[in-house]
Amino acid sequence: MAQVSEVAERIYEIKPGGKEIENFPLCTVYLIVDDNTALVEVGCSVQLPDILEAVDKLGYDIKKLSYIIPTHVHPDHAGGAGLLVRQLPQARVVAYTRAAKVLADPSILERLMQGFMRVYGDDAQERFGEMVPIAEERFVLVADGESIPLGERELKVIHTPGHDPNHLCFLDTKSRGLFCGDALGGYFSEVEVSVPSSAPGSDPIITLQSIEKLQELNPAILFFSHGGNTREVTRIMRMLADNNRQCTDIALNALKAGMDMAEIANSLADVLVKGSKLTREDYLAASPYFVPATVEGYRQYFNKKKI
Ligand SMILES: [Zn+2]
Repeated sequence: MAQVSEVAERIYEIKPGGKEIENFPLCTVYLIVDDNTALVEVGCSVQLPDILEAVDKLGYDIKKLSYIIPTHVHPDHAGGAGLLVRQLPQARVVAYTRAAKVLADPSILERLMQGFMRVYGDDAQERFGEMVPIAEERFVLVADGESIPLGERELKVIHTPGHDPNHLCFLDTKSRGLFCGDALGGYFSEVEVSVPSSAPGSDPIITLQSIEKLQELNPAILFFSHGGNTREVTRIMRMLADNNRQCTDIALNALKAGMDMAEIANSLADVLVKGSKLTREDYLAASPYFVPATVEGYRQYFNKKKI
């Protein structure tokens, strides 16, 4: 059962709840109600019934939804988009051009899921649910610097590669809230700590450049897709940039020293808990997949770069 709250004027956070959260890297989605209503993030297919129930409870008719806006193609963010758009004939999916190519092509989707199964386990497809392709004519293609008009507000599109090459963030012009997807890592709201979120296909150096690009926008709120939201923007973004730099160095040295994945995870935890309220246990147990995906992301990156 999802938890729903209004986190800024007419922006509703729909957070996954219940025991399934222990097993899935589930995503928080945001409903922005305006003349054109938008759902930022969709989550994976198995989340869809919960999200539709939450939208219904808010008294909003999902059939009027104009835009489905996943920040990037990873199954925990965009997985349910194909199924949802089939139920809503008038809705369009907003995506970066290359992301649309991924989401429209069954063979690329298959490869994406295979990559995730290597990190998330052979049963990942079952746990995430089906990721069905989206017909090309259902997309609104957007580029960096463009805006999506909703009515009282616009969403400014910011291309933020790094975690994923086709990752987008969206700045709401009314609240100055930033929908940051995975570009600003994973957020531990209880202790107000943001930690790097790497994944297969990530590039930690480009991730840092995107963090700097987002810092320059000076947003008032960060709407995370994993972990809630914060108005402590400057401090959290600075912390994340530092954590990214340190974790990239630690991962590189650990890989050179031939450490195994569990040892690397422990080394990252050592850095992240130093001087923060985050505990090793909370970091390592964030989900059974978050830390392994991050370590694997670093491993693949350094392998590819032959460093
Ligand atoms: Zn992701």
